[in-house]
Amino acid sequence: MQKTECLLCGKSFSDLLKHLRLTHDVDSVEAYARKASEASGLNEKRERFRDYVQALQSKKEKGMINEEDYRRLIIEWKDR
Ligand SMILES: [Zn+2]
Repeated sequence: MQKTECLLCGKSFSDLLKHLRLTHDVDSVEAYARKASEASGLNEKRERFRDYVQALQSKKEKGMINEEDYRRLIIEWKDR
C-alpha cells in the first residue's frame, strides 16, 4: 500500500483514519480536510489539497459523487 504524508504533521502513514485518531484526535476525513485547509501558513502542498477538496465538494453538491466517494477520494489524495 502506498504511503501518504500527513498534511498536519508531515508524517507518512498507510492508514489515514488510524493516523488521525491516534495523532490528531480527529475521527473523520471531513474534519481532517477542514483542518488541513485552514492551517495557518498554507504551503503549496496544502493549497493543492485545499483546491482538490473544494473540487470534490462541488462535485458532491452537484450529485456527481456520493459521500462515500468523497471520503475515499480525500483519503487517496496524493501530492504529485
Ligand atoms: Zn499527522
